[in-house]
Amino acid sequence: MIIQSLLHRPFLTVNILGSTVIITSPFTFASTTHAIVRNGLVPVFADIKETDYTLDPSKIEALITDKTVAILPIHVYGHICDVEAIQQIASKHNLKVIYDSAHVFGVKYKNKGIANYGDANMFSFHATKVFHTIEGGAITCKHPQIIERLKDLKNFGIIDEEHVRDVGGNAKMNEFCAAMGICNLRHINEYIEKRELVTKRYDTHLSQIDGLQCLSPQKDVLPNYAYYPVLFNPSVYGHTRDEVYEELKKHHIYARKYFYPITSAFDCYKEDYDASLTPIALHVSKNILTLPLYAELELEAVDEICKIIKEL
Ligand SMILES: *Cc1c(COP(=O)(O)O)cnc(C)c1O
Repeated sequence: MIIQSLLHRPFLTVNILGSTVIITSPFTFASTTHAIVRNGLVPVFADIKETDYTLDPSKIEALITDKTVAILPIHVYGHICDVEAIQQIASKHNLKVIYDSAHVFGVKYKNKGIANYGDANMFSFHATKVFHTIEGGAITCKHPQIIERLKDLKNFGIIDEEHVRDVGGNAKMNEFCAAMGICNLRHINEYIEKRELVTKRYDTHLSQIDGLQCLSPQKDVLPNYAYYPVLFNPSVYGHTRDEVYEELKKHHIYARKYFYPITSAFDCYKEDYDASLTPIALHVSKNILTLPLYAELELEAVDEICKIIKEL
């Protein structure tokens, strides 16, 4: 049904007839879903887990058809997907796994860097991320032929002065951004340690408040403390997420409704999807707030933020 309605969109028609579907989660930043659609592929959304907001492996198999070629799960807030369960499903159905790893730079699972899981990983080095180059990113991939192709694609497909092998674009990192990255890389461990202190300070204050859900550490995971999300349960806590957001803003504290709305509810997709088919993602997006978190954030400022939330 979803594919039928997408057929009305002229820019998608050709590839839908070619029938290429990717299973993903709508609880993500715009670019994850856009990347699928811009390439003429069709995203099909599975719901997330309540515990860590990543793609729920138990929701994937029911959505797989002969049109499905890949799974695109998102590691969320520095918390990783169930990489083993996802790989098992992918191997069973001969699907590729491409991770949106924008939030998990530096994260390890079972002592292995997170990019070792899946066929490919996309990292973002945007200024808001744990490690950044102002703008930019990186792709890791297990398959040498794909790495070669990506190298061509990032420079317009140009391989030498007279040969253009592929329909690429300008996806090169400039020297200035690379220099910024080298500077930040020297301090990355120190940044992550400071983020850990901020995270633990939030935990001390917020774990005592009824109606708030904070994330707990994941087993066998070396975290990067990328974000501090809090899920508000208004009927227990007494205030909605939006009320907390506004109250903080009055004090010039800018929390983010991240991710809100879910991508399937965006103006550009809502005609084609029913957001209520991923009820957990929908619920989380309406009740979650990520609190300020960066290496230089003073612990006293964390105390202030928590005081406002406590006393609301
Ligand atoms: C930041 C982010 C991106 C986009 O990264 P860019 O470097 O801005 O392209 C993609 N996915 C998620 C989950 C992100 O948080």
